[in-house]
Amino acid sequence: MQSAVTVLGLGPMGRCLARAFLDAGLSVTVWNRTPGRDRELVERGAFGAASADGAVAASPLTVICVVNYDASDAVLRTEPVTRALKGRTLVNLSADTPGRARDTGDWAERHGIRYLDGAIMTPTTTIGTPASVYIHSGPEDLYAEHRAVLEALGGTHTHLGEDVGRAAAYDIALLDVFWTAMAGYAHAVAIARAEGISARELAPFAQGIATILPPLFEEMAAEFDDGGFSGEGNPLTSGLSTMTHVVHASQEHGIDAGVMRAIEATARRTVELGHGTDGYIRVAEVLGRRA
Ligand code: NDP
Repeated sequence: MQSAVTVLGLGPMGRCLARAFLDAGLSVTVWNRTPGRDRELVERGAFGAASADGAVAASPLTVICVVNYDASDAVLRTEPVTRALKGRTLVNLSADTPGRARDTGDWAERHGIRYLDGAIMTPTTTIGTPASVYIHSGPEDLYAEHRAVLEALGGTHTHLGEDVGRAAAYDIALLDVFWTAMAGYAHAVAIARAEGISARELAPFAQGIATILPPLFEEMAAEFDDGGFSGEGNPLTSGLSTMTHVVHASQEHGIDAGVMRAIEATARRTVELGHGTDGYIRVAEVLGRRA
């Protein structure tokens, strides 16, 4: 396994990545736009580069992890950094859209930079542990070449295919699940408090709801892929009625019901299109119809 890696971007995530590489015994060079964020890493043995191009030149593999691709462009698409990357491998673990990932792949190809895209699916606390999850996409042989270094971060690494935008596509879909669930939870604890129920009291029941979801995801995935949409036992009309209860209860407490209203509106439209006896996942098919 090659022994040197550069990490660009030392926010909470970038610092954890660099720390995990150090703990795995790699020679680690770090750089961040705002100086001073490398102090603890340098104390642990990292080399703190004075410039991004200097950091890139120190290793065959550079991992960048910044807030988004506007930020990674600001770091990478400037000389002498682009020149320093020529012939080296760049892995972008920042989050953004599949389109931005593919655009970065095109830019990298034009500049002779070997490029892999990726995303981190778990919080900073998991990095370097078996609980961390990473997804990657781009040329298979390039991934195979750097796999051992990437796996030094611990956890599960999955290469999702040669299309460089594929990791970001999974990331976006999974962020969609995560943030809508988080928004539902935030709204639920607001309603519960208005009803005199603490978040702690609600928590075990909320966890119970969460455990219902994994088997439902699997069931609905098969229905969606195969176009079955069976609403037997739980037709959309019945679900829609319970969504309306949440909107009404929110209104009674003067709590913003915007998120649930949006959810209710997509379900109502699906019913109005004649799918009231179908299962909930018919909504996804309707959402995906081109106007
Ligand atoms: P942030 O998303 O806040 O990113 C902070 C980093 O971005 C810092 O290094 C910051 O530099 C840099 N940055 C921001 N704007 C610019 C710019 N214009 N030019 C150069 N650098 C810039 O924090 P995280 O480190 O937590 O996240 C990094 C990435 O990891 C994000 O894409 C995030 O979505 C992803 N991620 C994070 C998780 C987490 O739990 N934190 C979990 C999974 C993924 P400076 O210090 O100079 O401001």
